[in-house]
Amino acid sequence: MSCMARRLIKGLDTKLIHAGEPEPLIGGAVAMPIFQSSTFEYAGQTSYHDLRYIRLNNTPNHTVLHAKLAALENAEAALVAGSGMAAISAALFTVLAGGGHLLAQDCVYGGTHDLFVEEFPRYGLSVDFIDGDEPGTWREALRPNTKAIYVEAISNPLMQVSDLQAAVDFAAANGLLSIIDNTFASPINFRPAEIGFDLSLHSGTKYLNGHTDIVAGAVIGSAELVESVKHTLNHFGGSLDPHACFLLHRGMKTLAVRVRHQNESALKIARWLEQHRAVARVNYPGLESHINHLRACELFDGFGGVLSFELAGGLDAARRFMDRVTIPISAPSLGGVETSMERRNAHPGQEHIPPGLIRLSVGCESVDDTWGDLAVALDAATS
Ligand code: PLP
Repeated sequence: MSCMARRLIKGLDTKLIHAGEPEPLIGGAVAMPIFQSSTFEYAGQTSYHDLRYIRLNNTPNHTVLHAKLAALENAEAALVAGSGMAAISAALFTVLAGGGHLLAQDCVYGGTHDLFVEEFPRYGLSVDFIDGDEPGTWREALRPNTKAIYVEAISNPLMQVSDLQAAVDFAAANGLLSIIDNTFASPINFRPAEIGFDLSLHSGTKYLNGHTDIVAGAVIGSAELVESVKHTLNHFGGSLDPHACFLLHRGMKTLAVRVRHQNESALKIARWLEQHRAVARVNYPGLESHINHLRACELFDGFGGVLSFELAGGLDAARRFMDRVTIPISAPSLGGVETSMERRNAHPGQEHIPPGLIRLSVGCESVDDTWGDLAVALDAATS
């Protein structure tokens, strides 16, 4: 039995540092050591999934993360995966097994969209896209084999906030599971289990890790559901290795300070952009002008670090702007401590994304430096 008094863990910031940590500390180590062992001695396990083996996602580095993630979102259980897409595919292949049909928000992350339209049909699964803002239209898309509804907390890259409570209620009323990709909000701004979501998914590559040095994923929800997703993941083999677990763990300890800084800086930059003559449109749920602003205020504790915008000069101006900035790094990810940006051609089926749209992931730099840089580039792009 531990001789340490149990820590009082209530606040999010305390959970990030202490929830799930071993008591007593292993060998006195304040930072969780890396258990670089593919397998562990038999200890009387009776089930395959309980054997201690890295692919079965149950080394000490996994279990600490599982407990911390579950505590963060006030859920029963969690599971880490080898990438965000490993988490999403393992969850959906579990929930839709046997020819299931999914209702999915119509503007989701491109990789998820491709999974739905390219891979699902090859495995006998199907999807219909729904307008996340129009719950009244969802019923007509229901089929006898519909198993779940899928939304993103803040959609990528247009920053829409679907009617998330309606998604939970619709699922409950129709015997479906409600699933949300909570990557953009992070547990600091939104904890889906608190409004009734069955599963919350993350690309841990983004905010959870925050340092742009690993890919990782997470699945958070009820113990029963997470356990069945874990079995799928164990079979498909998409586990997170212990060194990546260690980095994710280390990154998560500063999640709150990073995300609050990013919330604050992104809101300032969104406001400044909105007032700039070179800018035609800014998409950020923290802006009063955003179509889902009131809903975002009700649901979230902050609006996140990502925004997107279009320049009045369209695609050519966007190219000039991106050539001119010096602080944001042009790269295809987000949620790191460094500000990054991208302008990407829409995936097939995402033609509603304007070609000149720039997505900016605001980092942890001094916001005045970032804005100073953006402002010079905006002037240059339009002169
Ligand atoms: N979900 C969202 C919202 C994302 O933006 C991404 C990646 O950009 C993913 C999931 C996929 O995550 P990963 O690249 O870690 O597989």
